[in-house]
This record gives sequence, C-alpha cells and structure tokens, in this order.
Amino acid sequence: MKLTTHGDKRRYYRFRVDRWYGGVATADVIGCNFRCVFCWSRSRDPNTPGKLTRPEEVAEKLYELCMRRRVRQVRVSGAEPTIAWFEHMLKAAKIIVSDYKLHFILETNGVLIGLDRRLARSIADLASMGSIEVRVSIKGAKPETFERITLVDRRYWYVQVEALRTLIEEGLKPGDEVYPALMMSFDRDEDIRKFIRMLSEIHPALVENLDPEYVILYPHVRERLRRVGIKPLRFFKPGEPLPEWMI
Ligand code: SF4
Repeated sequence: MKLTTHGDKRRYYRFRVDRWYGGVATADVIGCNFRCVFCWSRSRDPNTPGKLTRPEEVAEKLYELCMRRRVRQVRVSGAEPTIAWFEHMLKAAKIIVSDYKLHFILETNGVLIGLDRRLARSIADLASMGSIEVRVSIKGAKPETFERITLVDRRYWYVQVEALRTLIEEGLKPGDEVYPALMMSFDRDEDIRKFIRMLSEIHPALVENLDPEYVILYPHVRERLRRVGIKPLRFFKPGEPLPEWMI
C-alpha cells in the first residue's frame, strides 16, 4: 500500500476545474477513513496513483487553475481532506483563504472533527481569515443505515452529527459557513423526516441548507452494492441529467 501522507505532504490524484458549485477548482486528495459501499470516487483507495504534494504547492496549483479558468472558489474532494489536517491541509487552506483570497470549500465526512474539537477550533480560525464553507456529509439518516453503507461502527454516525454541533459552537455560521449533506438513497421517508427534526434541534438553518445526496449507479458502484446485498431506494443512472440543485 502506498503512503497517503508523509511529513507535511499528502498524496493527490489530480487537480482540475469542476462544474459543481457553479465552477470550482478541485484537488482530488487520496485516502479516506470510510469505505462507503456507494462511493464512486477513485481516489478514496490508498493505492490510487498520485503524487505526494506539499501544502504550498497544493495552494499554488489551485490558485493557478482559478486564474486560468476564472473561478474564485476551490475545494478538496475525492476522499477525506481532514486526514493530516494540522500537518498538511490546514496549512494549504490558510494560504488559499488569506494569501490568495479564494473561497475554500471543505467537503468532509466530519468524523475527525467530531472526535477532536481542536479541528473545529482551527476551522473557525480559518473562517476568521477569509471565506470558507464546510459541508459535512452525513452517511444515512440513522445509525443503522450508516453502518450498513459505510461498514463503520454505527456509533460514528453520532460523531458525524457532533461535528456539525461542534463547528457551530466554535463560531461557524450555521447554514452559511457550515451545513450538512445527507445521503438519502438508503432511508425511508419517515427516517429522513426524523433526521430533519433532529437537525432543526441543533439549528434550523441546517435544515434550510441541507444538501441531498443520491447514489449514482456507475457499474462499479452497482456491482459493489450487489455484492453486499443493498438496494438503493432513490438513485441516478450514469448519464442521466442531474437536477440543478445537485450541481
Ligand atoms: S466518505 Fe466520501 S470519499 Fe470516503 S468512502 Fe465515503 S463517499 Fe467515498
């Protein structure tokens, strides 16, 4: 297995501009602490080919992409960016928001933030230096679904939810600087309604800004789901036009 981190370096699969969020320079990082059965990202696998990259170089590559393609926002995607947060990602993010004055989007499963409040505190510091948003992607509307689709112990579902609460407590503006996404493909309507009620108790703005996520049935995703015997209740087929709100 290849190293995904080394010193202050983290391995990246590619740098590109993507259509999500209306156009965003994207760094696809390698390595994730989850193994979601519906995941379509190639770079969550630690064996994905890529290059160990220093934080300064990551920031510079994203800045150049922004200048070339006339976009003003960047994100780190493809796997989990909070791994090696203090060693690597926080350093890159500081350069991005405070030197390059770009909007930084952190897409995370939230578990490391929920486990260690210091991450939330450092993200709040980052927000005070420039413009950021944190999108915490919750894997399923209840712990049982979470365990089935991530293959991770169900108690970590609560840790994901805790990440939202902690980020708000540390000072991020709910619905603006921090908001949830929910994988909605595997839960019944009543469980999703219950989840939404729970979110509103943390903060009503989290409900207003909830991003729905649905599985896209790429052949490798379909095969993985078949192997574990899970059928999504809601999904998109590859090539099917995605609704405006998913882009
Ligand atoms: S957390 Fe995201 S990147 Fe990691 S396995 Fe799950 S869907 Fe893939």
